[in-house]
Amino acid sequence: DEVVKGIEDAIQFAPLHNPAHLIGIKEAFKLFPHLKEKNVVVFDTAFHQTMPEHAYKYAVPHELYEKYGLRRYGAHGTSYRFVSDETARFLGKDKKDLRMVIAHLGNGASITAVANGESRDTSMGLTPLEGLVMGTRSGDIDPAVFSFLAENANMTISQITEMLNKKSGLLGISGLSNDCRTIEEEAANGHPGAKLALEMFIYRLAKYIGSMTVAAGGLDALVFTGGIGENSDIIRERVLDYLGFLGLHIDQEANLKARFGNAGVITTTDSKAVAVVIPTNEELMIAHDTARLSGL
Ligand code: AMP
Repeated sequence: DEVVKGIEDAIQFAPLHNPAHLIGIKEAFKLFPHLKEKNVVVFDTAFHQTMPEHAYKYAVPHELYEKYGLRRYGAHGTSYRFVSDETARFLGKDKKDLRMVIAHLGNGASITAVANGESRDTSMGLTPLEGLVMGTRSGDIDPAVFSFLAENANMTISQITEMLNKKSGLLGISGLSNDCRTIEEEAANGHPGAKLALEMFIYRLAKYIGSMTVAAGGLDALVFTGGIGENSDIIRERVLDYLGFLGLHIDQEANLKARFGNAGVITTTDSKAVAVVIPTNEELMIAHDTARLSGL
């Protein structure tokens, strides 16, 4: 009950996610009352607790952190934990020797710098709104947008928040859809909104890969995962087109093969680092944690 209360108290940090999880937990208690003694909650923020202070703090008055917990928490940590271990295994290396930049690209999208097996920085912040262009979320935006729209468009804070979370990103730019497959198809048909949405998604991602390379202290492996990362050869190729200056060059054939659950290195052997596709498995990670923490 104490943990459930803690998750309720943290709703403000993940307004789209925590209430849904609480419904699951409470319904599970009703359906399986005999399991109430041993339950495990796996937090998607936990992996990012190793971020250094200069990465997790915002450049705002310190008391806001002390009083309200205003800081960057990140998300997709369960996926990053699985994928960083799996990348090391796939490449036959010790994760302590790998500087990785991992892009988890699904309907929600984020990117994390991992060194020594630990998160060093990530693109999501106080809530999962910060960072990359996503299916329906804007990602990074000038915070002055709030006062600008309040004054010029007569919008309330909650209307602006909803617009940035649910009506922006691929959906908002294209005016068509939040689904990456639709955006790719319509961009290929020449739809201007879809073409721009795709380019903005790719450009923002490439910019972030550059900055996460700084956070990781260099780059040994760039990793793509999530529904888009695991399947969109088009996005991977166009992101790598931006990254030639880092010594990454695409292997076209390997890129086309790494789809539908197939892992693979997608860069040429003369590249200075590898780009690799690694399917994520958050459910397996949660099952492992549950077994370990409940002493099974
Ligand atoms: P996820 O949230 O990880 O399930 O990922 C969902 C996203 O992956 C959606 O935007 C899908 O359109 C995208 N996706 C799934 N399959 C493909 C594909 N073959 N090509 C491009 N995007 C895909």
